[in-house]
Parts: sequence; structure tokens; C-alpha cells
Amino acid sequence: MKKFTYVFVGLIYVFLSFSQETSLYQFSTFSALSNGLYESSISLEKIKDFGDFGIGTYNSLDGELILYNGKFLRAKADSINHKQVEEVRIYEKTPFIELVQFKSDTAFTINKQLDLNLLDSIISAFVPTKNIMYAVRVEAKFNKLKCRSVSKQVKPYKKLVEAVKDQKIWKFESLNAVLIGFYMPDYMKDINVPGYHWHAISTDERFGGHLLDFECSEAKVEICFVHNFKLQLPSNTDFNNSTLKCSKQETDYIEKNK
Ligand SMILES: [Zn+2]
Repeated sequence: MKKFTYVFVGLIYVFLSFSQETSLYQFSTFSALSNGLYESSISLEKIKDFGDFGIGTYNSLDGELILYNGKFLRAKADSINHKQVEEVRIYEKTPFIELVQFKSDTAFTINKQLDLNLLDSIISAFVPTKNIMYAVRVEAKFNKLKCRSVSKQVKPYKKLVEAVKDQKIWKFESLNAVLIGFYMPDYMKDINVPGYHWHAISTDERFGGHLLDFECSEAKVEICFVHNFKLQLPSNTDFNNSTLKCSKQETDYIEKNK
């Protein structure tokens, strides 16, 4: 009986430790998005239970998607009354999103002059392996923050590498903001963007976008380790009939404007 009890308690422990592991949910693939598949029938309502922290875009590429503290926000390519971010209604749809229930597994503070390249390399040097996924939250007062938002597209849709040429660049100064980032291993290319992909949101939720660069002198970094991946694929003929490839040159231009 005693032996049985130990086995039972052991099984509960194993079950709990697995159930607590963070899972990343993703809808569609980056290669599908980069090939102009900008519409789906998946609403935010169907996705919201997968997490409170994420990035992506909305149908017709209508702004940058930022899931911040469980709230779906849109960083637009235009601004009204010095406010460029709006909250998005739950029945709107997304052609590409990735999200997690964020849990800070490790955290540290950086006390030196920092930009985007240096941040990426400091995180890469800190984490135990480049072979798992990470969700990363960075909070700072940014001396400079450079973001972009893509304009809403009309049919027939251009490829993403063309669509980002319509982007609006936003330059902010002295802004309290949070960076919402994901790291994907190289072997995830075509499914997602290898390396880091960051969006930014000001803590007053007025400004944000897809992050291109920044400057700050102190930053608080929190990292969530991700060992589980759930991929949901679109169910439509455009996806079924597409050739899903995206070259490294295209990805670099889309993500970094390089
Ligand atoms: Zn982005």
C-alpha cells in the first residue's frame, strides 16, 4: 500500500510539472504570411485562452498586433490625437499570431548603454541553449525607440516584402515602454522568424509597433522558457495552394528593414 502511495504521489508530481510547462500557440506560418496570405477566419476570441503575451498582425495586415497583459492592441500606421494604438475588439481576425501565458523563469537587469543588437546578444549569451524557444519581456525607459506599422492592404495582396514598403516609421523619445519578444531557433525557419522578433508598447498603451531599434541605459529583462509548441494551420484554398517559402534575404528585409 505504501509503495502504491509513493508511485501515486510521483505520478501526480510528474503530471503537475508537465502541465506547468509553457506552451507557445501559433496560428499559420511566417512563410504563409510572407507570401501574402493576410486573411483567416480565426477570431481573437478563439485564441485568447492560449495566453496573455504575444505578437502578430490583423486581417489585411491592418496594423501590428500586440497582446499586452491579456489585452489585444493594434499599433496603427496613422495616429489620432497623438494616440497611435487602439484596443481591438475580440471578434476581429488574425492571419498570424504567436502567444504564450507568460511566466518569468529567469530575470536580470542590464545597466549599460543598450541597443537592439546588443540586447539580442546579451540574451543569447545568458540563456542555457539556443535550441528551445523563449518569450522575452523587457521593460525600460527608452531614450529612443524606432518602430514601424504596416498599412492595411487591399486585394490583390502583394507579398509581405512589398507590403512593408508602405510601412510608417515611428520615432519616439523618452518613452516608458515594454518590449514583447520571441526567440525562435534556426530550425523553425519557414514556420516562424529565426532569432528574435520584437514588438513594443508604451506603458500608457498609446504608442507602439514592430520594433526596429532603440537606445536605453537600463533595462529589466524577464525570460520565459518554452518547450511546447502548438501550430494551428489555416483551412482555406489559398493556404492549400501556396508555395510556402521565404528566403533569408526577404525575412531580413521584412523584419529589420535590412
Ligand atoms: Zn512584427
